[in-house]
Amino acid sequence: MLSKILSRAECADCRICCSFDSYDLWETPVVTDDIMECALKINPGQRFSEISGARLFRMECEPDRDLYYCPMLDHQKGCLLGDEKPFDCRIWPLRIMSFEGRRVIVLSPVCPTVFSRPVKEIAELAKELAPAIFAQADKTPEMVKPYIAGYVILLAEERG
Ligand code: SF4
Repeated sequence: MLSKILSRAECADCRICCSFDSYDLWETPVVTDDIMECALKINPGQRFSEISGARLFRMECEPDRDLYYCPMLDHQKGCLLGDEKPFDCRIWPLRIMSFEGRRVIVLSPVCPTVFSRPVKEIAELAKELAPAIFAQADKTPEMVKPYIAGYVILLAEERG
């Protein structure tokens, strides 16, 4: 969904969004029923955790490092889910958060490629994607996280 500002090649060279430390495990994607089905076809032994009502992939910590790789990441091929990846992954580094009682679309400061783009360009894309993002958040409210300082607020939902 972010192909206007992020190429597949740039993602393939980076994959920072598919690894986590213990402080940002909350960033791991919400796994809906259909994603769980796809993941279990790829790895029937895949386990899941439930945190604050959200189903997440169970991830194992790397030995001697505070590092967790998403179990759907193949270090050679990329995401094993291909086009079926979770919605959170399809819009990352955009995220949806709750700020002062409103849903907002924010930009994660972690993606080095997108964070280097002009913020106006990213805000325009956020505006274009907002209807799809808010519609998905209606279906999957667990993907709306509490606002965290440092995330750039690009757009706030209109009050109804
Ligand atoms: S589901 Fe795919 S894109 Fe999302 S974090 Fe895991 S490997 Fe990365």
